Amino acid sequence: MLRKAMRAGKIKSKNYAIFCVMENDVEKIISLLTKASEEEKELIRKAYDFAKVAHGEQKRNSGELYFNHLYETAKNIAELGMDPVSVAAGFLHDILEETKIDAQIIEKKFGKEILFIVEGVSKLGTLKYHGADRHNESLRKLLLATSKDLRVLIVKLCDRLHNMQTLSFVPPEKQKRIAMETLEIYASIANRLGIRKLSRELEDLSFPFAHKEGYDEISSIFKKSYDEKLENLEKFRKSVMKELAKSGFINFHSDYRVKGLYSLYKKYLKSKKDIDKIYDLMAMRIIVEKTEDCYKLLGIIHATRKPLPGRIKDYIAFPKFNGYQSLHTTVFTGDGDLVEIQIRTKEMHKEAEYGVASHSLYKEGEKNKKQIIHWIDAMLPYSVSDIKKDFLSERIFIFTPKGDVIDLPTGSSAIDFAYSIHTDIGNKMSGVKINGKLSPISTILKGGEIVEIITSKNARPNRKWLEHVKTTFAKKHIKNL
Ligand code: MN
Repeated sequence: MLRKAMRAGKIKSKNYAIFCVMENDVEKIISLLTKASEEEKELIRKAYDFAKVAHGEQKRNSGELYFNHLYETAKNIAELGMDPVSVAAGFLHDILEETKIDAQIIEKKFGKEILFIVEGVSKLGTLKYHGADRHNESLRKLLLATSKDLRVLIVKLCDRLHNMQTLSFVPPEKQKRIAMETLEIYASIANRLGIRKLSRELEDLSFPFAHKEGYDEISSIFKKSYDEKLENLEKFRKSVMKELAKSGFINFHSDYRVKGLYSLYKKYLKSKKDIDKIYDLMAMRIIVEKTEDCYKLLGIIHATRKPLPGRIKDYIAFPKFNGYQSLHTTVFTGDGDLVEIQIRTKEMHKEAEYGVASHSLYKEGEKNKKQIIHWIDAMLPYSVSDIKKDFLSERIFIFTPKGDVIDLPTGSSAIDFAYSIHTDIGNKMSGVKINGKLSPISTILKGGEIVEIITSKNARPNRKWLEHVKTTFAKKHIKNL
């Protein structure tokens, strides 16, 4: 191989540079992994070379070399800051399904760890299942492997990301199904794991294929005012920066982000198509060094600009369920517009964009990892449609009297809450206090409520409860009795 020859010093780097333009360059990926050792870099080169030879001249629907898909998947994984093992697995993820190479060879050449990830990402090997069953089984297989090693899921998400980037080459009759599945399952899981960078990209790539009319509607509304809004925002950003500098704040970074079209669409539907109610269409971000700087900065901003009541949110003291931390406030710009300002530290920003992928949580022994694994384990017994309903739908956060947070799908009742704490609490439930007030147990809960379940020895679940529960988990236990 040319690259190998170049590493051995046989070809001058000048020639190599010309060659790079034509080739998917593995060194580009390696340069993304700042902490990799020489040995780890060599592992990635080995996986690259091996996949390139094994897939040979295979082509994808788009007519491009199959290997290009593997390269892009590995690059997506490296860009998330994942470890070298995951990147190497990215190169090899389709090798068992698409080539004659078998598991034994992969294990011998790359070890058990990489084989485990590659097998976890591969679809079902047998033809035992068809239609919806096949769908259920392949998701179950993926989750099962993920509960042992989170990297399986992250490789799968990066594989899906490149498949979505090339979805226009897939036969039209398949596009919608793939896009829906990406939105409802993969983007939702990425969001739940706090990998916002991935979930946003997956959502925006799926949106035009999954909900064509909605996409057309929202783009025609927002494209018109987009450039103008961006210009105003940049003006506003500069004026805020000036004020902060005057107050002695210099060590910070600021930029702005435009809301992803799909998440905008969801808000648009929620606000009953009233665009004026969407305040975070564009948001300005300020990234500082320390947590206390976040609060100081918020103080300075509120001292000079009027905030919109009810829009000040402290996700630092009360992080979102996926770990997101930031201060949010919406202020009047002075020329009739409203802008959301998000203030957070560098670490919080990294967490907000990369979540689980950002801090090597996939490695053993961390508390957060256990929570995520627990969440994935809890999904295992369910079908795809139940998983969508119970685990991946929009959530509300309910507090126990001790201050623990339980998240439930929107529309859950006090009975769902009882069962989500413990099966016995559900089975022995006799009443409920919501914010300290006795209420019917069928009451639909609202986010932020403090809920206390009253149990009694003689209480029994009632079949009528089935009409008032939302989660499959609660339903299952009530039916069993
Ligand atoms: Mn693939």
